[in-house]
Amino acid sequence: MAETGNAGQDGSVPFNIAVIGGGIIGLHVALGLIKRNIPVVIYERASELKEIGAGLGFTETATQCMQALNPSVAGALGKVGIATTGSLRWINGFAQEDIRLREKGTAFDFELSTGKKDGFPGCHRGQFLNELVSLVPPDLIKLGKRIASIEQNSKDEKLVLKFSDGTEALADAVIGCDGVKSRVRQIVLGEDNPASYPHYSHQSAYRALIEMDEALAALGHLPSGQLMYLGPRAHINTYPVGRGKFMNFVAFIQDKNDWPDNENLTAPASKADVVEAFSKFGPAVRAMIDLLPDQLDRWAIFDTLDHPLPSFSYDRVCLAGDAAHATSPHHGAGACVGVEDALVLATVLKKAGNDLISGDNSISKSAALSAAFKTYDSICRERGQWLVESSRYMAELFQGSVPDVGDDFDKFKEQVRERSHKVWFFDWKDMVRRAADDYDARVRA
Ligand SMILES: Cc1cc2nc3c(=O)[nH]c(=O)nc-3n(C[C@H](O)[C@H](O)[C@H](O)COP(=O)(O)OP(=O)(O)OC[C@H]3O[C@@H](n4cnc5c(N)ncnc54)[C@H](O)[C@@H]3O)c2cc1C
Repeated sequence: MAETGNAGQDGSVPFNIAVIGGGIIGLHVALGLIKRNIPVVIYERASELKEIGAGLGFTETATQCMQALNPSVAGALGKVGIATTGSLRWINGFAQEDIRLREKGTAFDFELSTGKKDGFPGCHRGQFLNELVSLVPPDLIKLGKRIASIEQNSKDEKLVLKFSDGTEALADAVIGCDGVKSRVRQIVLGEDNPASYPHYSHQSAYRALIEMDEALAALGHLPSGQLMYLGPRAHINTYPVGRGKFMNFVAFIQDKNDWPDNENLTAPASKADVVEAFSKFGPAVRAMIDLLPDQLDRWAIFDTLDHPLPSFSYDRVCLAGDAAHATSPHHGAGACVGVEDALVLATVLKKAGNDLISGDNSISKSAALSAAFKTYDSICRERGQWLVESSRYMAELFQGSVPDVGDDFDKFKEQVRERSHKVWFFDWKDMVRRAADDYDARVRA
């Protein structure tokens, strides 16, 4: 049976970790552990590691966490980073005023700045993933390994990981980074538990890339920067991509119905659906919808809000990234918070390793690992689940559906500012300190 990493050799800690899933967060977790000389292997179900071509933006907090996790991760983002924006802008898309006629630089009703010119370092997902993969020694990534079950024979023995190709591997602890439809989540919570699955947020997204020349001709200067168009039960976000060659278009539309197929989160859709949802919006929005191709894809937004996880940690198994807190994209920060997860996990596992090497606290391996994961849960769950909740709230704000806010624009601004600042300006150093203290208190107790 395969063994995960070389626990206890070359001065490394005397345990080994299996990371399930080689997405953005699985790679962050693994690179944090590698940096701390903690043996780790990534098991990924796909036959190659790849990401879709879309963009990904990070907060400054996330990039600082990357630096603390493993400076090579921050370096990887620096290598493929693309210039984005330092602020976000919103405009009433429902007003019948032709906002195209506003002077350039004034076509927004609210702007929230990060205080930095490049406040959201961005990247092409695929390029960033490739850079991260290049930092992991190839023998630490096992492809074609779809996790099926995790078994524990006794408290102190290694966990047995069983894959759907019939192979097995051993590890002292497992970190499930297997995304929104996490199998590890089902394994720890049980297949009958509704919290094992993500649920439909009753919002679906229609996405398109529109040639920038065409967009500028129809919409004047509006597409030259990021802009979110607000309105009842639907909103649109646009921003330039591909070095300004395209306008990225995403429309979010409320949907009272259930999603028909929980296995398949995309469905073919037509322009007519979008035309209908925005038919009463202002002339600029309607002109934008006119630019859409006749056939579109519709993406169901699933998250973990309706049935949040009772814990991110289950003895020597834990969940991180979307597996722990799958969120709708209205804060644009699901991966950012996953990077925070990775930093806390690296911090507490390093402490557990040091304890076991030094013999301090006379603690067993399984107790140290279990304490590390309990600390991770106590430090990261509240923020991860807040993000999921707040992200849904943001969509309701953008679509005028929050009863206490309605169309009171001052209240809207207050909520957007407060919630965005909570995501953007997070005291991650304090998070790391709290994690270290919590772990120490647990093992001494
Ligand atoms: C439209 C949209 C825009 C977004 N924009 C942003 C943004 O700008 N900034 C931001 O911070 N976040 C953003 N997010 C959120 C971000 O994309 C996710 O939070 C992030 O990609 C999650 O990474 P992950 O590694 O946890 O999961 P994933 O990327 O889903 O990776 C999971 C990995 O696990 C593997 N896997 C699955 N099942 C198994 C199994 N049984 N066995 C083994 N391997 C398995 C998968 O193949 C995959 O490689 C956005 C999300 C959406 C939908």
